[in-house]
Amino acid sequence: MGLPKFEHLQPESLDEALGVLSEHGEQAKIIAGGTELLVSMKQGLLTPNYLVNLKAIPELSFIAYDEERGLRIGALTKLTTLTSSQVIQDGFSILAQTANLVAAPPLQNMGTLGGNLCLNTRCFYYNQSQFWRQARPRCYKTGGDLCHVVKGGNRCFATYQGDMAPALIALEATVKIAKRGGERVIPLADLYTGKGKRPLALKANEMLVEVQVPMSASAWSGEYQKLRYRGAMDFPLAGVAAVVGRDGSETCSKAGVVLTAVGTGPILVEEASVLLEGQGVTDERVAQVASAAHEVARPVDNIGSDPSYRRKMVRVLTKRALVNAWERE
Ligand SMILES: Cc1cc2nc3c(=O)[nH]c(=O)nc-3n(C[C@H](O)[C@H](O)[C@H](O)COP(=O)(O)OP(=O)(O)OC[C@H]3O[C@@H](n4cnc5c(N)ncnc54)[C@H](O)[C@@H]3O)c2cc1C
Repeated sequence: MGLPKFEHLQPESLDEALGVLSEHGEQAKIIAGGTELLVSMKQGLLTPNYLVNLKAIPELSFIAYDEERGLRIGALTKLTTLTSSQVIQDGFSILAQTANLVAAPPLQNMGTLGGNLCLNTRCFYYNQSQFWRQARPRCYKTGGDLCHVVKGGNRCFATYQGDMAPALIALEATVKIAKRGGERVIPLADLYTGKGKRPLALKANEMLVEVQVPMSASAWSGEYQKLRYRGAMDFPLAGVAAVVGRDGSETCSKAGVVLTAVGTGPILVEEASVLLEGQGVTDERVAQVASAAHEVARPVDNIGSDPSYRRKMVRVLTKRALVNAWERE
């Protein structure tokens, strides 16, 4: 499985990169660490004419925090840098913990936060070699009109399996998206369309440049729980991020619970804030939030492991994540 032919472009400033993206549109793909993109290209899933490499743009790689603006992380920041950063460890430890659970250390050394947040959705029938795929009719994800997983399904059910988005959505993060001549800031949750076929609300000429967490470092604590086959390596089969705020009392001031790998995008468990904010975090309320998480999880049989088992585990992981986050306060 060799790489298809492409032209490698290495802009040296953000403006230059945005110009190149605007010029080449759908013909170009951004490459950051390349840990997902190059595999997809070898499998013939993507065949861009141009790869726009970000690695010569130092302004995209930084971690900054101050009380007024909160936390800001450049899109090109490596996952390893998140894990080892004192700022992240001290004030946003869930991000260090989660980055440390992505794939394996060599991939964390290459992989970036921006690349992680912009992962494609995955499916057993999609993430295969071209040779393997051509033995079957095209599915929605590859331009056809059927789903091999949900028989009779009228849309693509490919699963979103990114690890970093749930914790950041629970932290109410926003992302800065730039294009030539302009930029916009949107809640990270809105980056995800919830559509298996086209999971990101990002145009071909746009780039995610910065992640912003607008709150004080001391106000929250969190925990990410991940189910996977091999602890040393794999994508999540289910993942739950829980973030809680206590403000020094026994009452929960803020609560956010977000799921991954059990749907076509990250899933916010809305009941978490309704059930926990302004209340104590009791076993009974934790169980209610875990039931709500179980209710909204929609795994299908396309990434390995039995979907009903993965759904059951969402309840277990939610309890563990919430209790550990609360006890860490
Ligand atoms: C064996 C294996 C195991 C893995 N396990 C996990 C796992 O457990 N959890 C997990 O979350 N991921 C996993 N991954 C996926 C991947 O390694 C990580 O998600 C990594 O963080 C991706 O970052 P990257 O910089 O390498 O992305 P790239 O491969 O460079 O890019 C990924 C996608 O994002 C786009 N992109 C990159 N940067 C930007 C930007 N700034 N703006 C807009 N678009 C951008 C690219 O065009 C591409 O479409 C795994 C990969 C492999 C090969």
